[in-house]
Amino acid sequence: MTVMVYVGLGSNLEDPAGQLARAVSELANLPDTTLQAQSPFYASRPVGPQNQPDFVNGAVALATKLPAHQLLDHLQAIEQAHGRERLQHWGPRTLDLDLLIYGNDSICDERLTVPHAQLAERDFVLQPLLDLNPELTLPDGRSLQALRRKCPDNRLRLLQPQTGSH
Ligand code: AMP
Repeated sequence: MTVMVYVGLGSNLEDPAGQLARAVSELANLPDTTLQAQSPFYASRPVGPQNQPDFVNGAVALATKLPAHQLLDHLQAIEQAHGRERLQHWGPRTLDLDLLIYGNDSICDERLTVPHAQLAERDFVLQPLLDLNPELTLPDGRSLQALRRKCPDNRLRLLQPQTGSH
């Protein structure tokens, strides 16, 4: 069965926009997976420690046959290939990939919380998702547009025009 999933991308080290662009093509090459659309990239203030560079964030829509945990394995392998080290919670990173939405599934176990736990509080996650699909809702029925209106302001700045398609 093919599922529509949304993956969030973030980086604030070593050419962040380049890290994200490479990660998008790596995601497009995953087995049993097709890239459906890519959001624009945004710059935003870091969450947590402020003595680090601004982040670049974006999101992609993928159609995949991979089960959620196998997809997470692939996301973590791509993070590792980008030289990611876990030095500090909410600290700087070369690449962060989050499984934001997996079809209409709600998952909560030791490895995965889907929809992603902080999705509703982060404009740098909600805005790229809304660029991909303005009508997107969570499995519990909440609309992303409504969540975006209530979300704290992280001073999002659009980095480049949208290149993906709906
Ligand atoms: P982070 O440091 O933010 O990349 O968090 C990585 C950890 O979050 C990993 O141990 C994952 O198993 C866990 N995790 C839980 N839910 C998710 C999700 N929806 N997407 C990515 N990682 C997740």
